Amino acid sequence: MTHYICKGGCGGTLPDIGICEGDGCANQYEMMEECECTDGSHGMEEVVETRDSNGVILQEGDSVQLIKDLDVKGSSINLKRGKVVKKIRLIGDTENVEFKEGKTTMVLKTCYVKKV
Ligand SMILES: [Zn+2]
Ligand SMILES: [Zn+2]
Repeated sequence: MTHYICKGGCGGTLPDIGICEGDGCANQYEMMEECECTDGSHGMEEVVETRDSNGVILQEGDSVQLIKDLDVKGSSINLKRGKVVKKIRLIGDTENVEFKEGKTTMVLKTCYVKKV
């Protein structure tokens, strides 16, 4: 079924052609675009699911615990098993997340962490 979607970031959809009425949307008051998708994805990029070592989906801002001692490449930093890392950031990668240690941004392999 043809439907109409807004690509301005508000996620708006309409069954019939119309304008976006999303407050603050980049495309507010602009015509919605025609879409023929049947799965509700509207042809947008698939959402990347980042999972921890147990297969639990990780979300932006989650806290995770290391299940392994990790040496950080190119630094003297050693992350100990059991350390809890707060406020991870998703980077659109299924196997890596970022976090900040002091002022340094580091990448963590999700196979070495579990959500807490
Ligand atoms: Zn919109
Ligand atoms: Zn669609």
